[in-house]
Amino acid sequence: MIRSISIVCAALLIACVVSADRSAKAFALHPAAFARHPAAFAQYLTGPAATVSAERLPADRRATASAERSAAQTVRPADLVLRNGKIVTVDDTKPDAQALAVSGDTIVAVGSNQEIQPYVGTATRVIDLKGALATPGFIDAHVHFTGVGDAAKNLKLATAKNWDEIVRMVGEAAQKAKPGEWILGRGWHQEKWSEVPSPNVEGFPLHDALSKAAPNNPVWLTHASGHAGFANAIAMKMAEVTKSTPDPEGGKILRDKEGNATGLFNERAQSIVAGALARDLATRPAARVEADLREVIDLAAREALSKGLTSVHDAGSPPLTIEVMKKVVDEAKLPLRVWMMLREDAKNLAVDMPKYRVVNYGDKRFTVRATKRAIDGALGSRGAWMLAPYADLASTSGFNTENLDDVRMIAELAITNDYQMAVHAIGDRGNREVLNLYEEAFRKHPQKNSRDLRWRIEHAQHLNAADIPRFGRLGVIASMQGIHATSDAVFVLARLGPARAEEGAYVWQKLMKTGATIANGTDAPVEDIDPIPSFYASVSRKVKDGSVFYGEQRMTRMEALRSYTINAAFAGFEEGIKGSLRPGKLGDITVFSKDLMTVAENEIPSTKIRYTIVGGKVQYEGTAAPAGSTGRP
Ligand SMILES: [Zn+2]
Repeated sequence: MIRSISIVCAALLIACVVSADRSAKAFALHPAAFARHPAAFAQYLTGPAATVSAERLPADRRATASAERSAAQTVRPADLVLRNGKIVTVDDTKPDAQALAVSGDTIVAVGSNQEIQPYVGTATRVIDLKGALATPGFIDAHVHFTGVGDAAKNLKLATAKNWDEIVRMVGEAAQKAKPGEWILGRGWHQEKWSEVPSPNVEGFPLHDALSKAAPNNPVWLTHASGHAGFANAIAMKMAEVTKSTPDPEGGKILRDKEGNATGLFNERAQSIVAGALARDLATRPAARVEADLREVIDLAAREALSKGLTSVHDAGSPPLTIEVMKKVVDEAKLPLRVWMMLREDAKNLAVDMPKYRVVNYGDKRFTVRATKRAIDGALGSRGAWMLAPYADLASTSGFNTENLDDVRMIAELAITNDYQMAVHAIGDRGNREVLNLYEEAFRKHPQKNSRDLRWRIEHAQHLNAADIPRFGRLGVIASMQGIHATSDAVFVLARLGPARAEEGAYVWQKLMKTGATIANGTDAPVEDIDPIPSFYASVSRKVKDGSVFYGEQRMTRMEALRSYTINAAFAGFEEGIKGSLRPGKLGDITVFSKDLMTVAENEIPSTKIRYTIVGGKVQYEGTAAPAGSTGRP
């Protein structure tokens, strides 16, 4: 903590000196910083030698000194200078720039190459961007952080062509695994397969081939949506699933004609197998649990940085993860910024909300000030809670996955503990219920302006026309995933029919017209954490087959950029320190191989990351980066 405070103080000092504003007003802005650094304050009052020398020169020589040179004498060398770039700042007061300077972790100047040149000293790292696009560091407003790390370790099934390929992949893993060891995988989606499995129930395979491929290992394969899972025979045996196991509330065990479990566990039924897995994992000693968590945190951080993200919002983690995250931050081992939602049983939240709330912990690296709930499931697995039955399965309108009274109680706790609510809602019924619940909570606390609370709906995917304006009116943030629109498009029409799809599916323009803020993201590991495909989906709504999914709802390039930067920062109360590039904000910057703002639309997907810079430190450098860089001597 002390180390981080001094970095911030140093950054504030530099910012003040740079502005050459020695008025009492400037000091009044940072009295605490100066109180902790009396020597710095004395220097601030008298001015460092370099900054006053111009004033002490004889009048004639002063007159001949060029404006450029005096500028050079009034600033201190920065730690990092980016020059020769196309910098889109997302700051309306200075939207474009060529160069910027970062001292400590803070931006001290943004401007032309000439204006920034004075900040280059002998120890300054200078990166020549050679015309490349630099933007505020990308923020993914909805990922499952440890899930991203887990996914890096587990079988990746997202690109499997069909069920046979998945069975083969599991078979190979089983040959390498010790007997009894779990084989985990994620990302399969039956709608993306080349053919419908045979035999099948409701389009899903039966477990027999999978059970044969892994006869000695429990297997648990999570659906791409995260809202269903597939188990083999051993996993079901460990979970004590029999013909007579009842469906839990809010979930379904898919069965064949004889009533035997097929292997598919939908929505809350997943907890039956996940519970067996958890019981098995619970036999690990505490030290092993922490070591495993640290490993997935590190894997997730590296993955996010390599894709250009400087911050992520984690959509719900338990107290243990928060505790380990704080240790990792204390050890200065978290290379990006994480804004984490607390996910915890309703009964524990009254105690845990105040206990785990932290804002800008450890040089602004870690924040917990929101709680995550989930009111329904996903559309693909027909778990999204709809106002009317599914078009392709009239017997269901989806599921309500969390008791509304519990969510109501948690909303009340959130207001008293200064937490944001962040509720997963995908179906139009789910969204309506959450909006109703939020509105009710706001009404109970008329002294709070609902817009100031910035409560969020995660996904806000399918909306009834009557509910769209409520986002703008109530100031509810729509935390949406651009990439979901195009990856789900293939089954949206089947599940909902054309009328509902047009009315309310991923209606970005309709929402923005109501004044709503849209934050973008990927829901990784549901989708790859890479923001480029999501940015592309946001501006093109182009589906794999080349068709465009309700193109009038596309975002402009600038709207998409804002959704990944300043809007995502706003969604976490962080727009004061992140989301745009201006002096005083954190030096979090993403540099791209192509100009996302102007390049032909079909060029966007092949854009690569050149640099990911967090707090003025290059945390990732793309191998294909041709941009020149001179390191410290
Ligand atoms: Zn999610």
